[in-house]
Order: sequence, then structure tokens, then C-alpha cells
Amino acid sequence: MSRSALYLICINITLALVAITPQASAKSFSYVIIDAGHGGHDKGGNHGLVYEKHLALDTALRLEYYLKQKGIRTKLTRRSDQFVTLPGRVSIGNRYRNSIFVSIHYNHVWKRDPYGLETFYYGREGKKLATHIQNDICSKLNTINRGAKQAKFYVLRNTKNPAVLVECGFVSNSQERSRMKQAWYRQSLAEGIGEGILKYKKSW
Ligand SMILES: [Zn+2]
Repeated sequence: MSRSALYLICINITLALVAITPQASAKSFSYVIIDAGHGGHDKGGNHGLVYEKHLALDTALRLEYYLKQKGIRTKLTRRSDQFVTLPGRVSIGNRYRNSIFVSIHYNHVWKRDPYGLETFYYGREGKKLATHIQNDICSKLNTINRGAKQAKFYVLRNTKNPAVLVECGFVSNSQERSRMKQAWYRQSLAEGIGEGILKYKKSW
């Protein structure tokens, strides 16, 4: 075999590997890491006795139940009202190589008007996952779609697998707050996030 023929074969093998690698890792995710934001002394956004940390954990547990019913394995970064550092959350996520990372939060701003749902991502795969989740939660809850947006949040930048952060409504908006206090709202969110995850899995 001539030297140039060998060189061409090497290039072809390299190109094939480059083409296959990103899809293979996304296709085979076998765990969903569910990250309930805040916890313990870190209440997150709050208004009166409505704390983000409680809402996030309840939604995370509902999502865990939904995914298990669909035969998808899950791992929670916290299962109770405990404080977990951001590096601690990331290292749990990165322990599972074939996984996706879904962080659950509720929004809080100083203005009272903003409401609706938004999902953040950092990488290319995260964007696909965020778009599926964002579409599904907005159609379930019939509210303002604030979009899937890129952000440099710590857990998104440092998680090696596709990662998203879902903001499930504004604690600072009185109408949305009264909805999120009810179980049906958090259940609809969990199901919307779960359906988005299933669509992302099927899309490969
Ligand atoms: Zn938060």
C-alpha cells in the first residue's frame, strides 16, 4: 500500500470517529441526574413561607417517580432538606458517565411582574435537551415561554454530560406563586420535564 493511500485511510478513520463520537455519548444515556436546587440553610428564592428549596425538591421527587415509571434510572443530588455544594452536585453528576443532568429551580426577582418558564443550557447537547423540555413544560402549563437560553451557571459549565437548569416559575409573582403552591402545578411540571427528556432520548 502506498504511503498516500495509507494516509487517506487514516484520515477517513479519524473523520468517522469524529462523526460518531458526539452522537454515541448522547444516544446511550442511561441515567438522569436530578438536581433539586438549594437546600438546608440555602433557602433559594422565597416569599413568606414559600421557599424555592422546598418547591424544587418536591418537583425533583415527582420527576424521579415519573421517570422510574418509564423505566429510566435516576439519581438525585439530594433527597431531603440538606445543603449540597455546587461542586458536590457536579461531582455526583460526573460520576455517571452516560447521564444527563437536570437541575430544578424556581425563579425570584425583585420586580413583581415577571412570570413564566425558562430553561438554561451551556453546551450543544444541552441546548437540544433544553429545547425539548422548555416546549413541553410550556404547553403543559399554558404560560409564557421565556425560552431556552444559554447561561454560564456553575453546574452547567462544569457538568461533563448534557446539562440543563429549569426555572419552574417565579416565586416573586403572586399569581404564579399561588399556582406553584398547589400539587397539580408541580406534578404538571415534573411530567413536562419528563416528557421532554423522553423526546430528547428518542430524537437520537
Ligand atoms: Zn435557584
